[in-house]
Amino acid sequence: MAIASDTQPQEKASTEVSGEEKKRWTLNDFDIGKPLGRGKFGHVYLAREKRSNHIVALKVLFKSQLQQSQVEHQLRREVEIQSHLRHPNILRLYGYFYDQKRVYLILEYAAKGELYKELQKCKYFSERRAATYVASLARALIYCHGKHVIHRDIKPENLLIGAQGELKIADFGWSVHTFNRRQTMCGTLDYLPPEMVESVEHDASVDIWSLGVLCYEFLYGVPPFEAKEHSDTYRRIVQVDLKFPPKPIVSSAAKDLISQMLVKDSAERLPLHKLLDHPWIVQNADPSGIFRG
Ligand code: ATP
Ligand code: MG
Repeated sequence: MAIASDTQPQEKASTEVSGEEKKRWTLNDFDIGKPLGRGKFGHVYLAREKRSNHIVALKVLFKSQLQQSQVEHQLRREVEIQSHLRHPNILRLYGYFYDQKRVYLILEYAAKGELYKELQKCKYFSERRAATYVASLARALIYCHGKHVIHRDIKPENLLIGAQGELKIADFGWSVHTFNRRQTMCGTLDYLPPEMVESVEHDASVDIWSLGVLCYEFLYGVPPFEAKEHSDTYRRIVQVDLKFPPKPIVSSAAKDLISQMLVKDSAERLPLHKLLDHPWIVQNADPSGIFRG
C-alpha cells in the first residue's frame, strides 16, 4: 500500500524513542500491554519499547480496512503532519511501521484518556477548567497555524488528557498543510484572485470557529447549534443562531468570548493570540495549562 513506500517520517521519527539512527521498528521492539480502546480501523494498546522502557500507545490499523474505506491518503497525511509537530498540547507521533496486514503508529500515551468521557461524566466543566483547556488549545493551534497546519476537526472526541491533566490534540486525519505564499506562488501573485490570496488566513480561522463551539460545549455540555434534524443544525450554523440558555449559569465574560469566536465572517473571528489576552481566559485559565480538580 501507499504508505509502504514512504520511509522518511519513520526514519526521522524513530530516532526519538531509542536515540538510534535510521532504525526501523518492528513489533518485536515492543511489549504489548492492555487495550486502550478501539477505533474505526483497528485497536490501540498500551506498549513499552523494550530498550528504552518508554511507555507508548500503539495504534494498530488493518491495511485491508484502510484500503476498503480509501483512507490511506488521509493516514499518510496524518502521519506526515503529526510526526513533525512538537508541542506539549499535541499528541506526539514518534513513528510508524508496518507488516503485511497492518500499519502501526507509535503514539504518545495519554494516561487520563478521552476528554469526551470526562465531559460526559461531569455534564459540563467549571469555567476554570474550560478556560484552561481553551487556552491550551489556542496555544497548540497557534503553533500549528505557524507551521501552516490547520487541524479542521477540533472536537471533544479528538482530545486526550495526559498524566498531569494536560490536554493533547490527537487525530490529525483531517488536517491540511497549507503553503505560505512564497512557496506556492513564486512570482505569480499578480494574477491571483482575492479568494486565493486570502485562502491561507481564511482556512486557519476554521479552527477558531471550532474552538468557539468547543468552548460552548465545555460550559453548557451540548454544542451550540444542536438540533434534532440535520437540516436544522445546518440552518442554525449558517445563520449563527447562537443562544445562551439560563442554565447552567455561565459568566458574561465567557459568553462574550464565545460570541467573538462564532462569527460568520471568518476574517472577523477573534484571532487566537488575542483570545489568550481575553479577560475570561486571563482570569480563569491556569497558566500551567494543567487543570487540578
Ligand atoms: P478513528 O480515529 O479511527 O475515528 P477513534 O478516534 O475512535 O477512531 P482511535 O483514535 O483509534 O479511535 O482510538 C481508540 C481509543 O483508544 C480512543 O478513543 C482512546 O480511548 C484510546 N486511545 C487512542 N490513542 C490513545 C493514546 N495515545 N493514549 C491513550 N489512549 C488512547
Ligand atoms: Mg480518532
